Amino acid sequence: MKIIDAHLHFCPGEPGYFEEIAKAAGHENTEEHLLAEYDRLGIAGGVVMGNRGLTLEDHDRYPDRLRYCIGLDSFCLKENGGRIGKKTWDLVEQHLQRDRCVGIKLYPGYHPFYITDPIYEPAYELAAAYGKPVAVHMGETAGTGAILKYSHPLTMDEAAVTHPRVRFVMCHFGNPWLPDAACVVRKNENVTADLSGLLEGRIIVDEFFREQRGYGEYLITWLRYMGDYSRFLFGTDWPLANLEDYIEFTKRVIPEKYWEPVFAGNAARVYGLDQWL
Ligand SMILES: [Zn+2]
Repeated sequence: MKIIDAHLHFCPGEPGYFEEIAKAAGHENTEEHLLAEYDRLGIAGGVVMGNRGLTLEDHDRYPDRLRYCIGLDSFCLKENGGRIGKKTWDLVEQHLQRDRCVGIKLYPGYHPFYITDPIYEPAYELAAAYGKPVAVHMGETAGTGAILKYSHPLTMDEAAVTHPRVRFVMCHFGNPWLPDAACVVRKNENVTADLSGLLEGRIIVDEFFREQRGYGEYLITWLRYMGDYSRFLFGTDWPLANLEDYIEFTKRVIPEKYWEPVFAGNAARVYGLDQWL
C-alpha cells in the first residue's frame, strides 16, 4: 500500500521544541532519519506545513520527497509586525508559482484572527487562482499562548461557503471538537480533513484503545458520521508522533476498504501528488 504523509513539519536539527518532541516520539529530528523512516515504512513522500520564514530560500532546503504549503504562522507574522501586507502576499504568490509548493497553510489560534477575517482574503484569491488548497490549523493548539476560539472547526464553515472555489483542508479534523468538524466537512464539498496530530509521542496502540476507549470510539463514531472516506487524509504531524505507531493507529480508526484512498489517493488528489501513487 502506498502512503503519503499529508502533514508534517520540517525543522531538522533545530534545537528546542522540535528536537524534544522528536525524541519523545522515538525519532531523531534529522532529514536522514526522516527519509530512512519513510523508506522503511513505505511512505512515498510528504507535505510540509510551512513554519518560520517566508522567503523563497527558506523553503529551498526540502529533499525531493517533500512538497510544502507556504505557511503564514505566528513567527512570520510577528516578523511582519502582525500585519499581512502586500509584500507578504507577493511572496506567497511566488511560492505558489513553484510546483513544489502545493498550497497555503494558515494558523488561526496561533494568530488571533478568524479565517473569515478580511486579512486572509488574498490567501483565498491566490488559492483559487492557482488551484491549490488552503490548509488550516484547526482544533487544539500547542502551548498556552494561542486563543482557541479562532481555531474552532466550526469557523471553517463560513469560510468554505463564502469561498466555493477554494479547496480547504481542515488539519487535525478539528480535534477534539469532532462533531462540529464532521458536520462542517460533511456539509461542504470543498473541505477535506487531515487526521494528523490526534496523538503524540509513542503510542502503544492496543493499550491506547484499552485505556482511552471512550476517545477511540468517539473518533470512529464521527469519522463514520461524516460518512465519506474520500475526504480524509493520513498525516503524521512529524516530528510530533512516532510514524509507525501513527500508521497503526490510523488503520484502527479507518475501515480497511478505505485504507488506499485515506493513506494516499485522497492526498494525491487534494495536493496534486499523482506521481507518488
Ligand atoms: Zn502540524
